[in-house]
Amino acid sequence: MPELPEVETVRAGLAPVMEGRKFTRVKLNREDLRFPFPKSFIRRLEGKSLISLRRRAKFLMGELSSGETLIMHLGMSGRFTIETGSWPADDTPTNPQHDHVIFTMQKLGSEKQGPTIIYNDPRRFGFMELLGQGESGRLKGLGPEPLSNHFSGPSLFESLTGKKAPIKSALLDQRIVAGLGNIYVLEALHASHISPIRLAKDVTQDEAALLTTEIKKTLELAIKAGGSTLNDFAAADGALGYFQHRFQVYGKEGTACPTPACTGNIERIKQSGRSSFYCPNCQI
Ligand SMILES: [Zn+2]
Repeated sequence: MPELPEVETVRAGLAPVMEGRKFTRVKLNREDLRFPFPKSFIRRLEGKSLISLRRRAKFLMGELSSGETLIMHLGMSGRFTIETGSWPADDTPTNPQHDHVIFTMQKLGSEKQGPTIIYNDPRRFGFMELLGQGESGRLKGLGPEPLSNHFSGPSLFESLTGKKAPIKSALLDQRIVAGLGNIYVLEALHASHISPIRLAKDVTQDEAALLTTEIKKTLELAIKAGGSTLNDFAAADGALGYFQHRFQVYGKEGTACPTPACTGNIERIKQSGRSSFYCPNCQI
């Protein structure tokens, strides 16, 4: 499942082939993904250009020349493929079963069509929507962006005050901090030596500051790793996928804890139906 660093990597891969280009053709192979496509989706995109492609939490946000914003969410299994050529001559998508959206772009001021960008999503938890100016749609109520200055030790500490939920659940709450998922929350908790079971309200001011630093560090490292593999990966088959980052605790059940001088082993527990990996020896 794509988390913030993977979405950022996808954004970095799509920006050079979408920004400054117009949608010359938009094809939908079904009427919905997780949600129905917006009304007149094709008409509202064709002929419009994409000015910039940004990211907010796990949402890709394409600012359009019409003033609308194209929101794209990858869900559990969404991925984009970039076909450098123009529209396939026989109009047959490469994998029609799961190729749900096909954009053909054209560089402004150029006669040449292309590239073609294909959105594939076997599980269909992804979605696309169009927001008018001032509309926030499904981005409504999102907390601060973890890599921004709005997310700090003091602001996190304040958000956790009085919260009786485990710290892990609090960090997954998109209103507290936007875009974090299971993997990076567990990695940051381990690096901060805080147990995922600890109640959010019991996290001290110093620990909140450390946690904020470790969350930023974990995400930045993963984004850097994604960026460095992007070129190789995209060159291979044009797909912007997810990279198997190296994790310290995620999926490492039964292995020795990587914390220096810690003699504990990583354990796996269930919290709200999802796996948590942590070291009961150095995470308290
Ligand atoms: Zn440990």
